[in-house]
Parts: sequence; C-alpha cells; structure tokens
Amino acid sequence: HGFHAPAVPSSDCDSMAGDTIFGQMLRGEIPCDEVYRDERCLAFRDIQPQAPVHVLVIPRKPLESLRAADSTDSELLGHLLLVAARVAKQEGLDDFRTVINSGLEAGQTVFHLHVHVIGGRPLAWPPG
Ligand code: C5P
Repeated sequence: HGFHAPAVPSSDCDSMAGDTIFGQMLRGEIPCDEVYRDERCLAFRDIQPQAPVHVLVIPRKPLESLRAADSTDSELLGHLLLVAARVAKQEGLDDFRTVINSGLEAGQTVFHLHVHVIGGRPLAWPPG
C-alpha cells in the first residue's frame, strides 16, 4: 500500500491541453526555420509562405490567441510588435504587413498567439 501520487498534476494537464505545434517548436521538439529569438519570443519562417517574406513571431508564453491576453501581457504584446518590425528590417523590408488572426472565423488555425510578418510583394487591401 504505497503512496499514489496523481499521475499528472492538473496544471500540467492544462498546459498539455493547450499545447500546439508552436509549443513543440519553442521546446525544440520539432525544427523550425528560425530568424530571431530572445527570452520572451521566437520568430521563424512560415512553412507555407504567402509572400517572399512570411515570418511568424510567437511568445514563449502559451497564449491561445490575442483574445486570451490581458493587462498583464501588455509589455509582452508590445515586445512582439517591436520584434515584428525588427524582423522586417532584418529581412530587408521597408514595407510590410502584420496580421494576428483570432478565432476560427478569422482564419486562426494554430491556437498559440502569433504575429504574421508578410512582405516582399505588393499586398492587396482589404484581405479576404
Ligand atoms: O493565423 P493562422 O493560425 O492561420 O496561421 C498559422 C500559420 O502557421 C499558417 O500561415 C501556417 O502556414 C503556419 N504553420 C507553420 N508551420 C506549421 C504549421 C503551421 O508555419 N508546422
């Protein structure tokens, strides 16, 4: 009659339920074509680029979307935009577009917040 600890603490269950392919990239479990990293975020080339430059900037914190962010994330959100601009410059872009899709109807397919950085060709507006 040994002591039986719960197999998985509930907090771990929660983080695994919220895990995505981007979480796996952040942990180095699957590769990505990295262009920038720091202690708060990672930026890598989109696997299905919609323009000559198409980079995704993601926070290390696993926010499922912009909808999940709150006032404690304001500095992080600002940082992601500054990194987006830095990556655009690093990629040689003067003109570029940043996009954040939130929710299925808006076209979000990976539920880990990401900022698209798109450029290198003329971009139409409004988007589809
Ligand atoms: O905004 P949305 O959620 O649709 O963007 C997800 C993006 O992640 C897509 O542009 C998709 O090509 C990209 N992606 C990726 N590598 C993966 C899975 C998705 O770059 N393994």
